[in-house]
Amino acid sequence: MSNILEMTNVSKRYKDFSLKNVNLSLEKGYIMGFIGPNGSGKSTTIRLMMNLIKKDSGTIKLFGLDSEKHELAIKDRIGFVYDENHFYEDLTIQEIKDFVRPFYTKWDEEIFEKYVDQFELSSKKKIKELSKGMKMKFSLAVALSHHAELLIMDEPTSGLDPLVRSELLEVLQSLLEDENKSVFFSTHITSDLDKIADYITLINNGIIQFTKPKDELLEEYCIVKGGIDKLDEANREKWIGLRENAFGFEALSSNKQEVRQHFGDSVMIERPTLEDILVFFTRRADRVSSY
Ligand code: ADP
Ligand code: MG
Repeated sequence: MSNILEMTNVSKRYKDFSLKNVNLSLEKGYIMGFIGPNGSGKSTTIRLMMNLIKKDSGTIKLFGLDSEKHELAIKDRIGFVYDENHFYEDLTIQEIKDFVRPFYTKWDEEIFEKYVDQFELSSKKKIKELSKGMKMKFSLAVALSHHAELLIMDEPTSGLDPLVRSELLEVLQSLLEDENKSVFFSTHITSDLDKIADYITLINNGIIQFTKPKDELLEEYCIVKGGIDKLDEANREKWIGLRENAFGFEALSSNKQEVRQHFGDSVMIERPTLEDILVFFTRRADRVSSY
């Protein structure tokens, strides 16, 4: 077993929010998309991994090492992209690079220069003079310039225009094609993951709902559409989420086979998108009782 990242029964309580009993693992060489609505606990989970906040209970291991005991050794092997700029706004790209470089035993100036070039970053510019997209590219350039084995990114695409977003995703994809790197990537924009993710983990309300290979997830789950009479026949407990009106219903099921067996051709069965799955799961938590 080569889990590069492993969280076991990790909990963290805030006054109005708890992350409950998180179990998560990522194998070397894969890319995991971590999805969930705003406020569901994505950043809290990532901050725990990075040892930026203290857990209440559980264990967190990266590269098989305890996240608290081996923080420095671990961080040397991780490229981290935060949800917000965490560099000093008044420093230039060059100055920040000179500052962070000594922290990494495997800093590679050539790679850094390559990304600075590719991203058209001007090293004389101050951070505060950069657009959001430029800041993100700079963060990414730093994260990729020390031969990190694991890239952890907290909503790197949020607030970026579509062009910069797709550029960023392309860089990630090409990175993963030729190297043995792993990526843990949180986002609430599920379309980011359609192409690149191997695994999807969904979190809602501080609780992990599932981790699954993306292809399996999209194969096993289905959207069901039908008339209200059909809904009455169904076992309501089985839907993950449901929308209904006077004419019909639309629901998410985690078991396409079962739906097909039960309903035959009397309902429409469609392949879901990651967006559908996120929306229906989120909706379920809002429902009072039946689903
Ligand atoms: P996400 O990244 O999925 O949007 P977060 O992990 O940032 O969600 O936040 C989850 C919840 O935890 C939110 O309700 C947020 O208000 C709360 N929270 C986050 N950090 C703190 C903190 N330091 N103190 C108290 N509550 C916090
Ligand atoms: Mg967040």
